Amino acid sequence: MIDPASTPRAGEGDSRYDTDVLVIGSGFGGSVSALRLSEKGYRVTVLESGPRRTEETLPKTSWDIRNFLWAPRLGCYGIQRIHLLRDVVILAAHFIGGCTISDDPSQGAIDPYHRVWGYDGLHIVDGSTISANLGVNPSLTITAQAERAMSFWPNKGEPDPRPTAGKPYQRISSVAPHRPAVPAGAPAALLTMSRIGDGREV
Ligand SMILES: Cc1cc2nc3c(=O)[nH]c(=O)nc-3n(C[C@H](O)[C@H](O)[C@H](O)COP(=O)(O)OP(=O)(O)OC[C@H]3O[C@@H](n4cnc5c(N)ncnc54)[C@H](O)[C@@H]3O)c2cc1C
Repeated sequence: MIDPASTPRAGEGDSRYDTDVLVIGSGFGGSVSALRLSEKGYRVTVLESGPRRTEETLPKTSWDIRNFLWAPRLGCYGIQRIHLLRDVVILAAHFIGGCTISDDPSQGAIDPYHRVWGYDGLHIVDGSTISANLGVNPSLTITAQAERAMSFWPNKGEPDPRPTAGKPYQRISSVAPHRPAVPAGAPAALLTMSRIGDGREV
């Protein structure tokens, strides 16, 4: 149970804990969040249930059951999760939807800054926040949503530019990290909104 009143807001930190931000899952949403928040000075811990992969342990075919399926009870620690319901087995690849973004708590699970309604210290940043089937592969959209959500976080110790949870949505500028870790021009280099196109904030 999380007590919203005692949940620290972004930027505040909390000396009771060894870490400022706990990221559960190092997928497209989690890894982007961890990178960008560490660039903003937060102490970030990532919990990941899957194994570290190398070229050798990546399955070349789905018939490599041990490395393809995730079913720990069967000794399979692969990439594809399966869900067993009473009458159906679900193998899903594009895990999207379920935690809709909304400016009204009766219409969605998270606000436009990815804060869970009623628990503003808790964020959801992954495929579940994509509201509809894209019709194309989703990981770049998940990555873009994570970049957007993390761009609004303040650097640690600075004022949070986002409206207090529950207040109406406002369009705000992204906050550049004080300690960018990815060199400009590298694949994961941060492009802030104002540096796209002709330089206007879009
Ligand atoms: C076989 C396959 C092929 C695909 N091919 C493509 C493709 O070509 N292009 C494309 O765009 N998309 C592809 N996808 C889809 C894409 O991989 C997913 O949409 C994307 O990974 C979802 O990103 P995410 O951040 O929501 O979560 P994920 O990337 O699924 O990350 C979630 C992470 O959380 C971890 N985790 C889960 N539960 C816990 C827990 N309790 N504690 C700790 N860690 C936990 C998981 O191990 C995982 O690492 C493919 C998916 C599969 C399965």
